[in-house]
Amino acid sequence: MQKVNPDRKNSEHITDHDLEHYHLGMIVDETELAPLEEHLLACSDCAERAKQPADYIDVIRRGMIEGDHEL
Ligand SMILES: [Zn+2]
Repeated sequence: MQKVNPDRKNSEHITDHDLEHYHLGMIVDETELAPLEEHLLACSDCAERAKQPADYIDVIRRGMIEGDHEL
């Protein structure tokens, strides 16, 4: 794992938008993913927020695969 340049926007908190994309696995670019994960490790505030959307992400995920199931 590469060291993230400290003067990257590491000091900025992760936005809900980015957290959402992160949970959905939509952030695949290492240059975006690395600092984001670094921040989650370093910032308990964002780590806590990162847990919260898990529920609705679950719902979104279920919605995505719903096509396979009869309702
Ligand atoms: Zn933060």
